[in-house]
Amino acid sequence: MKRREIVKGIGALPLSGGIIGGMLSWTKADANPPAPAARNLLQELGVRSFINAAGTYTAMTASLMHEEVIEAIKASATSFCMLNELQDKVGEKIAQMTKAEAAMVTSGAFSALTLGLAGILTGTDKTKIQSLPQNLEAAGMKSEVILQKSHCIGYEQALWNTGVKLIAVETVADLEKAINAKTASMHFMNCNALSGQINAEDWLAIAQKNNIPATIDIAADVPPVTNLWKFNEMGYSYVAISGGKALRGPQSAGILMGKKDIIAAARLNHSPNGKTIGRGMKVNKEEILGMYVALEKYIATDHEKEWKLWEDRIAVINNALKSIDGVTTTIKVPPIANHTPTLHVTWDKSKINLTNDEFMDRLRKGNPSIEVVSNAEGGFNTTVFMLKPGEEKIVAKRFKEELLNTK
Ligand SMILES: *Cc1c(COP(=O)(O)O)cnc(C)c1O
Repeated sequence: MKRREIVKGIGALPLSGGIIGGMLSWTKADANPPAPAARNLLQELGVRSFINAAGTYTAMTASLMHEEVIEAIKASATSFCMLNELQDKVGEKIAQMTKAEAAMVTSGAFSALTLGLAGILTGTDKTKIQSLPQNLEAAGMKSEVILQKSHCIGYEQALWNTGVKLIAVETVADLEKAINAKTASMHFMNCNALSGQINAEDWLAIAQKNNIPATIDIAADVPPVTNLWKFNEMGYSYVAISGGKALRGPQSAGILMGKKDIIAAARLNHSPNGKTIGRGMKVNKEEILGMYVALEKYIATDHEKEWKLWEDRIAVINNALKSIDGVTTTIKVPPIANHTPTLHVTWDKSKINLTNDEFMDRLRKGNPSIEVVSNAEGGFNTTVFMLKPGEEKIVAKRFKEELLNTK
């Protein structure tokens, strides 16, 4: 029997050393017998896996962790430590990297928004901490958060979870009228910065003039890498970012960074502390370390080179599609959030008799399965920043096949 066959055979034997004893003679070079074959759990469970030509969508599990992140998770899984001590040390490092006074790892940007606001509301007062999300005013807390109407697309629920009342405004005049003694913070959602009447600079200036903390959600807003520190340097009181989107850390991790007092108070509202609004937003040691390493890796990335790689991949797909009769392609880069080359594809339905739903369904059911997202023009959008090397060729070929397969 060849060595390979023997090794293959081991999998079928009970896990008892005695049975195979004598059958195998490991050479010195084989001091570590091979690890058991990795299980393909998605396959075992019948869960569809796919090429992600869509982007960092939460429901699609957003992004794949870098090797370094997976290593950090594996390496830390076999040792105990005190959760608070780990948060202290990692928080210091993240704060240095993001030019913030302080930072902490949270369970996503959403929980960062809740915990940051909880910190503003309660400070270090234990009674207030235990009171959230109820009776804010009775417990002596402020109880309102102001934000722009166009920034309310759902993520403001993270603020509302603390029990505050949200006040939506449109103009500077509205804003100045809304500010009062109950105002806890003024929140800005950066991805909709261009759809509101008040920009991030003016929002902050008005908050500072009124002595109110300004807070900001930049969940999906790297690249550019400079956004990691831009809002800390500007003077925002807290900044929330997702760990599992373009940063490619653990999907359920995120970062809250900002003023020392607020982060310290947010920590008190968080796991492992019981009787807190954040007890259920636990982050384990593996995710804390994974987040840390992902941030390190992201900052050290050659972003220009990466951008060029994305442009090359988009070109491969664009070149395959643009000459098809009836197809229109456009490369766009969203100005804020998911700031990466994005190919918009539409087609003349009188020339290509295929709806976008049918097209996406065929991609999904194909082999390999592929995900893209539909666009407002009746076609689809595709990005390449979540592709593995070489997948752009597979994706280009499949798109073309299905657009030509309408007879
Ligand atoms: C994704 C996203 C969030 C939530 O981030 P998680 O890390 O999934 O908790 C919040 N705000 C915006 C604008 C987002 O895009």
